[in-house]
Amino acid sequence: MVTIIDGKTISETIKTEIAVTVKGLLDKGLRAPHLAVVIAGDDGAALSYVSSIEKQCKGVGFVSSVYHLSPNISEEEFLTTLDFLNQDDEIDGYIIQMPLPKQISIDKVTAHVSPAKDMDCFHPENMGNLLLGKECYLPATPHGVIELIQRCNIETKGKNCVIVGRSNIVGKPMAMLMLQKSINATVTVCHSHTQNLPQICRRADILIVAIGQPEMITAEYVKEGATVIDVGVHRLDAPDQTKGYRLCGDVLFEDVSKICGSITPVPGGTGAMTTACLLQNTLKARMLKL
Ligand code: NDP
Repeated sequence: MVTIIDGKTISETIKTEIAVTVKGLLDKGLRAPHLAVVIAGDDGAALSYVSSIEKQCKGVGFVSSVYHLSPNISEEEFLTTLDFLNQDDEIDGYIIQMPLPKQISIDKVTAHVSPAKDMDCFHPENMGNLLLGKECYLPATPHGVIELIQRCNIETKGKNCVIVGRSNIVGKPMAMLMLQKSINATVTVCHSHTQNLPQICRRADILIVAIGQPEMITAEYVKEGATVIDVGVHRLDAPDQTKGYRLCGDVLFEDVSKICGSITPVPGGTGAMTTACLLQNTLKARMLKL
């Protein structure tokens, strides 16, 4: 019988834990954590993610602010906004919502964020600390996966973990986290040039998929009883459904859930965890100032 890893419920538990700590701060007359979001342009999916962050900040008692910039903003003006956020002592941390307008260099922007306020853990200093296993903010999506694994008591020590995808925001930091001594997995990272992918994936006790390919991972890629974590999220046209679309992941859930031991659904798996972990980082930034 397959276990469905309920990211929604686990993320609610994390948010309740955060809200309790925030209440403790407020009861002592201290200010609440403050998360800022910088967005340039009017990408619909990005705006809806930003409004979901604002709502969730409110839900745990955080202050949030959104810096909604013009899509035509110059790189210099964009970096000046970051200077302001870096210097404002009442803003504990911030994130920069992708996509950025084409005139703005992601690398320059990432390097300009103060590492102390880098809630996404994209700054090279934070990435370096992650690689070295030192204390740092953890990147929200991979950290969310670790929280799911640990809170569901999934054994990681000595287990084979195969990660499919090597992006800087998911695959690579995910591999670093699974290698940490607190996790102790044996890690294999795959990408679009990997040969014999199904065969390698079938070695995994824990298979983590972040490839951006809707429902590519079928039962052929999965060992019986494995844990399958699906990071992918896609909105596919579905004229027969009331909303006109359906959400799915990189894993073909109906197929894989017949043979794996546990699996994250989409929606309701890793997606909900990302914001919860972003809030955790902001709380950490606030607590470090006490
Ligand atoms: P990227 O496109 O940046 O990276 C995809 C990775 O998958 C690359 O390393 C690529 O290989 C690899 N890949 C692509 N196709 C294949 C294939 N056929 N076989 C093997 N490897 C392949 O994506 P992201 O990491 O940013 O995101 C991955 C997925 O996760 C997306 O669906 C995204 O929407 C979702 N996502 C979900 C989040 C959440 O909160 N749940 C947060 C962030 C992302 P190569 O390097 O060789 O090109």
